[in-house]
Amino acid sequence: LVDLRGRSCLVTGAASGIGRATAELLVRLGAQVVAADVDADGLARLTARTAMREDAPGDAGGEVVTLVCDVTVPEDVRRMVDQAVTRFGRLDVAVANAGILPLSDLAETSPEDWDKVMAVDGKGMFLTCKYAIEAMAGQPRGGAVVCVSSISGLAGQARQAAYGPAKFVASGLTMHLAVEWADRGIRVNAVAPGTITTERVQALQDEPGGPEYLDVMARSHPLGRLGEPEEVARAIAFLASDAASFITGVVLPVDGGYLAR
Ligand code: NAD
Repeated sequence: LVDLRGRSCLVTGAASGIGRATAELLVRLGAQVVAADVDADGLARLTARTAMREDAPGDAGGEVVTLVCDVTVPEDVRRMVDQAVTRFGRLDVAVANAGILPLSDLAETSPEDWDKVMAVDGKGMFLTCKYAIEAMAGQPRGGAVVCVSSISGLAGQARQAAYGPAKFVASGLTMHLAVEWADRGIRVNAVAPGTITTERVQALQDEPGGPEYLDVMARSHPLGRLGEPEEVARAIAFLASDAASFITGVVLPVDGGYLAR
């Protein structure tokens, strides 16, 4: 059902966590992927992992090329889109995933902290959508954008005074751009993950109060556990594929029921 063979894709923030799981899944589904991140070492590890993957049943044999790119810098984002178009002939799918995830309450959040998170999670998401959609606009087959929002981009939470509002940018861009670009065959959707066991989240196990926090978070998800990066990647791949051909403007919770409570 979800077939991305020969599709030209880009993924930002692909060096770790949800972005890496997404890049790896798109490759297994047969896509040609530009994987972009500020973390050059993480990208090198992604290349090595992809090259060493087993010939698992169902692996449709895609490929990945990596690119160091800072999503807050317009020139970098343009270069990333150009890379996909030059190398693979067009751009079918853009996954705007790169983000930083600081947890701080209003008192702890300085004006500089606000600017920092808005630069990556806000402006970075905008720039990725802008240049990707401009490249897709001239193509006969249009394209699909998937933004990575969060449960914090659909509902309020404590200790997310800057991060939470920044994720509302991802949800808002999704709805507004979906309406603006639908008549040109470009679908724009988002996923809104609950708490996901990325390396960064797993590292909380070793921090004071971390295990208790993770336990509370797991119990707040009605399915009784945290999500896996691959579970978010599967939702992204679905929204990016023709299987979701009549879906646009949706912010899809991938949250074990968190927002349904
Ligand atoms: P992560 O830290 O594992 O991965 C984020 C990646 O983005 C890193 O590789 C980092 O180097 C990259 N990055 C940071 N700034 C960048 C920049 N300026 N330019 C390019 N790349 C940059 O985090 P993650 O948990 O995988 O988060 C990925 C996305 O998922 C984020 O948008 C985050 O808000 C969202 N999200 C995560 C969770 C969760 O529980 N992990 C929950 C909801 C939403």
